[in-house]
Amino acid sequence: MTRQFFVGGNFKMNPATREAKQALVKVLNDAELDQNTEVVVAPPSLYLIPLQEIIRKDVKVAAQNCYYKDSGAFTGEISPGQLVDSKIPYVILGHSERRTLFHETSEIVAQKTRAALDKGLSVILCIGETLNEREAGETAKVCQAQLEAVVKVLKESDWSKIVIAYEPVWAIGTGKVATPQQAQEAHADIRSYLTKAVSSSVAEATRIIYGGSVNAANCKELSKLPDVDGFLVGGASLKPEFVQIVNSKK
Ligand code: PGA
Repeated sequence: MTRQFFVGGNFKMNPATREAKQALVKVLNDAELDQNTEVVVAPPSLYLIPLQEIIRKDVKVAAQNCYYKDSGAFTGEISPGQLVDSKIPYVILGHSERRTLFHETSEIVAQKTRAALDKGLSVILCIGETLNEREAGETAKVCQAQLEAVVKVLKESDWSKIVIAYEPVWAIGTGKVATPQQAQEAHADIRSYLTKAVSSSVAEATRIIYGGSVNAANCKELSKLPDVDGFLVGGASLKPEFVQIVNSKK
């Protein structure tokens, strides 16, 4: 089974201006992108529709978050149904910034994942351990607990719409990328957990991508690891080097 390589750009609350966003889109639109890689970019929600209108059609657009309710008095939120209505195919859920800064528990992330799938969205589901947890030898345990909440609410067939992003919190935005050995070990542990908790066919087919200080200089080596099926890129997705990361398998 070959898993299609996947590269996501998580713009977070960037870029600051519309001009900067357009420059970023121009770089992508003019680039030669590996057609064997699935490419997704996630702008702030305000820009989802305008970005979708100007970006090349082989690059998909993702939201960075959504709520689990369909509509109602939830000031500041957007619903999975609204994303689908706007033809947005993907949503990032459970990013560590949402878990930490916005207090999202694994149960809330699971609820959101269920709601997103019910509306037909695909989900980039983020998990990962803090530095303290890694140093305490709890990486696998933490990732499994974060996944377990989601496993509980999904059917086996739902997994074809999930991409797991393993993003060690200590590597996000710090310039401290996981070593190839650390990344491979964590990804292999996640895959073997999926075998146990869901099924071997889901474990074999589900893409597990790495995120945390990925850049043009380190992507090639990480892309060769057997259980690394792509990347979720923050800072470097705002720069022209994102093209090299997309093309890291070339
Ligand atoms: P980074 O962010 O590439 O800036 O470390 C990754 C992420 O948060 O998805």
